[in-house]
Amino acid sequence: MKINFAAKAILICRKDVIIQPLETTEISLDCAVCKKLHRTVIIHKDIKKTQCAGHNFLAVIKTIENNKKVWKSFFMKEDVHEIIYHIEYEYREFEDPRDRTGYDRRMSNEYPSWGRINFLITCPKCNTTQKHFTQNNLVRPFIGVCEHCAYQLYKDDKEQPLFEKEV
Ligand SMILES: [Zn+2]
Ligand SMILES: [Zn+2]
Repeated sequence: MKINFAAKAILICRKDVIIQPLETTEISLDCAVCKKLHRTVIIHKDIKKTQCAGHNFLAVIKTIENNKKVWKSFFMKEDVHEIIYHIEYEYREFEDPRDRTGYDRRMSNEYPSWGRINFLITCPKCNTTQKHFTQNNLVRPFIGVCEHCAYQLYKDDKEQPLFEKEV
């Protein structure tokens, strides 16, 4: 059964920051091939490249959205960058056969349990491009700081990525 979902991250950025999402994303999904829950797989735009523990994993990034909106309040002007990965993967229900999985369930489900979104960010102050990421279990509020000049680039204050089922 094909499952489609979106993994979405929102970054509140300083003005003139440039964001470029990578063409891979890391997501934890239940794998019916090895019958294990919470497998973290690197999902690519090319379906042949997505692997789980040495076997092909039928998952692909169909499209990546990189949206920018300008948000103005009385006190400040911020750029809101929204990264959305639209992902499709093949899901089959199974039960993890191991006695102790270490998890609170043994039956699989179709929902992603964790994700990490990687992106390149260009600092408007020193013009350096560097790789940053956001993930569900980040200690928040988090301030993304330029590794070269220490300029504060963005804030990340709500748990993300958000997962939404799509049809
Ligand atoms: Zn697997
Ligand atoms: Zn900088």
